Amino acid sequence: MTVSNSTLSLPLADRYARFKEAVFSGLEEITLPGFDQPVNELDLQSLWFGGAFGQEFISLDGKKVQVVDFGVWNSGPGPDFTDCTVKVGTQTLRGDIELDPDARDWERHAHGGNPDYSRVILHLFLDAPDELFFTRTHEHREVTQVCLSPSALPEKSKPDRGLAAARLGRCHAPLKDMQPGHIQSMLEAAAQYRLEKKSVRLHRCAAAQGREQTIYQALAQALGYRNNQQPFNILAQRLPLKRLQKLSGEERESLLFGVSGFLESVRYEDTLPETRRYLRGLWESWWKQRDSCRRWLDPRQALRWKLAAVRPGNHPQRRLGALTALLSRWNSVSGPLFEAGRWSRDAWCETMLAIGHDYWSGRYTLLSAPTVKPLALIGATRVQEMLANVAYPLLIPERTRLWAEYLELPALLDNQKVRRAVLRLFGSDPRGLEFQKMLHHQQGLLQVYEDFCLEDDSACAECPFPERLKEWS
Ligand code: SF4
Repeated sequence: MTVSNSTLSLPLADRYARFKEAVFSGLEEITLPGFDQPVNELDLQSLWFGGAFGQEFISLDGKKVQVVDFGVWNSGPGPDFTDCTVKVGTQTLRGDIELDPDARDWERHAHGGNPDYSRVILHLFLDAPDELFFTRTHEHREVTQVCLSPSALPEKSKPDRGLAAARLGRCHAPLKDMQPGHIQSMLEAAAQYRLEKKSVRLHRCAAAQGREQTIYQALAQALGYRNNQQPFNILAQRLPLKRLQKLSGEERESLLFGVSGFLESVRYEDTLPETRRYLRGLWESWWKQRDSCRRWLDPRQALRWKLAAVRPGNHPQRRLGALTALLSRWNSVSGPLFEAGRWSRDAWCETMLAIGHDYWSGRYTLLSAPTVKPLALIGATRVQEMLANVAYPLLIPERTRLWAEYLELPALLDNQKVRRAVLRLFGSDPRGLEFQKMLHHQQGLLQVYEDFCLEDDSACAECPFPERLKEWS
């Protein structure tokens, strides 16, 4: 399935896209995560596996290449992805895929002489030497090569450039004279544009990995809060839903905690008796599965959790506990997200808020003491984040009437970027406060802030937003 922006188009989003394009056409730089910094191979593999580069390519020797099945993220020695199906020209091939930042990595890492790589049918890379470079297995079979293009990514991905300066912007003057209805309409359009971009990403992932896996990955990512979205995403890609669904609840939980690295990083003697019982249960199952995941325990392949400055309630160990609890109620969690016709916001929120876990509903981390009272494992703000980033982006393109439901959502999250945007656009104008109360206003402000404030390096002098605002009115 090919997903384009136009199949998901919502009318206001189109208007905002034209508004933004007229300003920036010809000025956009093309970036890929890591291109201006050392390429992070894990992020790259995650983008590929999630279908972000698409499914159809042209090989270096001019053949049409279609990835029919992205296979399995390999946990053992050998190529990155195994059991894949790829069509090259008229031939259908089944085998493995290797992804490298540079084509020459194939020889640098001696894959050409390694029998573990003899089933490779497709070699992917982002960069290649000017001279001809062939990829060959140890049996001297030539492997189809595809150079991935950053322009295939659904949107440019930028490294986080922090915050724009905290001061009143030049757009403050025209905004002050603008009728509130016009500002509202501009922010709603920007919010719709933002939601549409999320929809494209999710539907592209669904085309590559299936809708159920996409829902699972996206919910796992939402549990990562701001700092740990990517490790959660990679964990869900490495341990796909189909694999987890074949396991018992205990096996599933031990596999998730084992591959996360949390089981091996905690010293038994540092824990409290109840935690020791919990860990013993996990280890009983983990030691039987550990060998099949050896590659992911290698420090170079291990997940990089960010633990500094994470609030206790958002600690990834607790969030992982929430993911295991969520998986034990999978049908009621995922069912309403399958088709817009089955959707009921109230029922879904009730399901999510009721999710609990014998151990994790009363703990922040494996080293912490029990909390005085049980805590909501997935609280109201997290559920709202899931509505905004998973449920509505999946469902609204299929049933645009749900946009009205989205507009009713209050803003529950405090966001530093939103506060900075309000300060720059509205200063002390009381309307600034009004535009922080609803989720879609926040989302619209974030979009304007990212598209204009973070793109500007002229202290507002050359920012086109203030002039363009007149046209919006
Ligand atoms: S950069 Fe543009 S949008 Fe941002 S505050 Fe300045 S004038 Fe306003």
